[in-house]
Amino acid sequence: MKNEQKLRAYARLTVRQGVNVSDGIYVVVRCPIIAADFGRMVMEEAFDAGAKDVIMQYSDDRTSRVRYERAALDRFETVPAWQAEQSNYYAREGCVAISIIAEDPEAFSGVDGQKLLAAAKARRAALKEFYDIMDAGDLRWTVVAYPCVPWAKKIFPDCPDDIAVAKLWDAIYTSVRITEEAGIVSDPVVKWEEHDRILKGRAEKLNRYAFRALEYKNSLGTDFRVGLPEGHIWFGGSETSNDGYVYFPNMPTEEIFTMPHRLQADGTVFASMPLSYQGCLIEDFSLMFQNGCVVEHHARVGEDALTRLLDTDEGSRHLGEVALIPYDSPIRQLGILFYNTLFDENASCHLALGRCYPNTVRGGELLSEEELASRGGNSSVNHVDFMIGTADMTVTGITSDGEQIPVFENGNFVF
Ligand code: ZN
Ligand code: ZN
Repeated sequence: MKNEQKLRAYARLTVRQGVNVSDGIYVVVRCPIIAADFGRMVMEEAFDAGAKDVIMQYSDDRTSRVRYERAALDRFETVPAWQAEQSNYYAREGCVAISIIAEDPEAFSGVDGQKLLAAAKARRAALKEFYDIMDAGDLRWTVVAYPCVPWAKKIFPDCPDDIAVAKLWDAIYTSVRITEEAGIVSDPVVKWEEHDRILKGRAEKLNRYAFRALEYKNSLGTDFRVGLPEGHIWFGGSETSNDGYVYFPNMPTEEIFTMPHRLQADGTVFASMPLSYQGCLIEDFSLMFQNGCVVEHHARVGEDALTRLLDTDEGSRHLGEVALIPYDSPIRQLGILFYNTLFDENASCHLALGRCYPNTVRGGELLSEEELASRGGNSSVNHVDFMIGTADMTVTGITSDGEQIPVFENGNFVF
């Protein structure tokens, strides 16, 4: 009974705050089949919020795995036009997009990496229209999570299945600020508005400094400097679409982030958490940068997956995002490693290999790929966050006249 109430609050939060469904709009929902009960609730809430229609795109990792194991490589090199059109059509017609994720961090471990790579490239190319409309700020989107047994067991290996899943639910609800007191589930909207103000305040502060570079140091061995392009913009919390609707691309979200210059990263960064990439775990890894490019990489576990990531395309060796998250963020305070980027990225300062968010540089969403590159923006099939924050992380901002301003000390914001 209580769970039903919380799930309902979560579905409503996804629809109202996440994508802010407006009157007469299409809602496209990507939903794993194991999350179908939640998917149907999201659907109901979307219609209640005024959706013209709700299009469910169900998927199943175990089905995908059978195909990866048995179909030939060339099956993954193209996406049939009819399939791509399902997403492109609704983007063109005006839609919002909800992604529900329920990922087994090792769903595809052992699968031929060439097939995973081919599928990722083909999908990105086939859905170019969809992603272009999204990047231009014309499509509101959000990502939310739903537990599955293999994911929950990865986090809580010693618990029976049902307890592990229940614990993961608790962690998800806490991180999206859905709480319960005396059997009554609180309305998370007020908490999200307050949280949004805090994130926006930090972003504003950094925008006023307009740093030329950030320098990172910690005891893991990170000693790294990244340049920030002229006109970069820090964002945090909600975003506003071109037609003026406020929405949250990620739930949870604790980060403020901006664009790094794709040719200005030097030194070595050590990952502070494992990374789950295409269903493969990469652990204890480091990347050495020169002039923005990864020139050396090591991983204790999953080095081949890391190599595959870096070799995807030219842009996968360059950075597309810099994000600051205090070590005392509520998600880190849960003390859980989620093995999922949606959560782990919100527990730690991170960088992303690959594609930048064009809107994180002034006017960037209106630029061609070449123009964006000349401003320092990176392009790639990939956008993969990896975590670098630690309890002893120091981040220093360098102003245009070379002044050094402390931004992070002992893993947290100085201001
Ligand atoms: Zn991020
Ligand atoms: Zn990212």
